[in-house]
Amino acid sequence: MTSFDQLKLELHRVCPGLLIKEQEPMRDHTSFRIGGPVALMALPQTTEETIACIKAARSLGIYPFLLGRGSNLLCGDGLLEHFVVKTNPGLRQLELVGETAIRCGAGVPMRQVACFAQQNSLTGFEFAHGIPGSMGGGVVMNAGAYGGELANVVVQTTALNEEGEIITLRGEAQRFGYRHSVFMEEHLLVLEARVQLMKGDPTAIQERMDDLLRRRKHTQPLEYASGGSTFKRPQGAYAAALIDQCGLKGYQVGAAQVSEKHAGFVVNKGGATCRDVLTLVDHVKEVVFQQTGFRLELEIITML
Ligand SMILES: Cc1cc2nc3c(=O)[nH]c(=O)nc-3n(C[C@H](O)[C@H](O)[C@H](O)COP(=O)(O)OP(=O)(O)OC[C@H]3O[C@@H](n4cnc5c(N)ncnc54)[C@H](O)[C@@H]3O)c2cc1C
Repeated sequence: MTSFDQLKLELHRVCPGLLIKEQEPMRDHTSFRIGGPVALMALPQTTEETIACIKAARSLGIYPFLLGRGSNLLCGDGLLEHFVVKTNPGLRQLELVGETAIRCGAGVPMRQVACFAQQNSLTGFEFAHGIPGSMGGGVVMNAGAYGGELANVVVQTTALNEEGEIITLRGEAQRFGYRHSVFMEEHLLVLEARVQLMKGDPTAIQERMDDLLRRRKHTQPLEYASGGSTFKRPQGAYAAALIDQCGLKGYQVGAAQVSEKHAGFVVNKGGATCRDVLTLVDHVKEVVFQQTGFRLELEIITML
């Protein structure tokens, strides 16, 4: 009996109604549309089920991979020996706290939080409207755009630590940095976040969200599958500008291509493999280093 078989039995025992999938293709769960079958995936529908899944896995020495909306993820092509817990079917709380704060479950899409803020005349979350991830993935990555980032508005986060305890981290304790947080460092499961905003004019908020979405559609290759910006911004430069400067726009390996519209994106032109993307990424890194001296680092998380 494999450890995944044991885990399946344990999950059935502690969570009898839990939705479990075996050999589930990760390409169906990622915005890149790339990825082979994962050994075991749980789709808990509530916070209690989510926590029970994590605890069951850890009791057997299995480290679960926490999946949000898969919009920053590149998965390998072959069988993926992982236990994935998909957080966005559960963890869906979304409510006002007082007049200007929002309590958001980790599974709620950031777009939905932005719309909820607008409906409640709250400003400060417009920047995240077009980011396709969940609140959990956003907090872990400290997602940001157009001068805003979650670090500016997430005042506290509730998470599950390695010992299976629910902890609440406030302010500085969340250790947000550029595409970085304590949740990433310490592999914490983000359960929910408290977003602090300000009162604003709902029409102006809607206009700003619409404007940012228009700018995104104009500059980003949203017509293709991708994982968003492939590389982090190196200190003192922009990855897209460096890649462009090296003449790599349109460079292609198999069906993976450096987008012709935005050199910071690697797009899947249809049927790209993880190997295509990684070969292309290695080439881009090498050429950019040789020609500019900048070392590019992946922003996208890999599951291999
Ligand atoms: C077209 C496009 C545009 C994008 N634009 C932007 C942008 O403007 N700015 C930006 O910052 N990003 C952008 N992204 C990237 C992506 O949307 C963000 O990084 C987002 O925060 C990822 O959220 P997710 O739910 O999809 O996380 P996933 O991709 O599912 O996971 C990302 C990481 O977070 C972890 N994780 C997810 N949920 C949890 C949880 N509840 N607890 C603990 N760990 C968790 C995963 O294990 C993984 O390490 C873009 C992506 C695409 C495809």
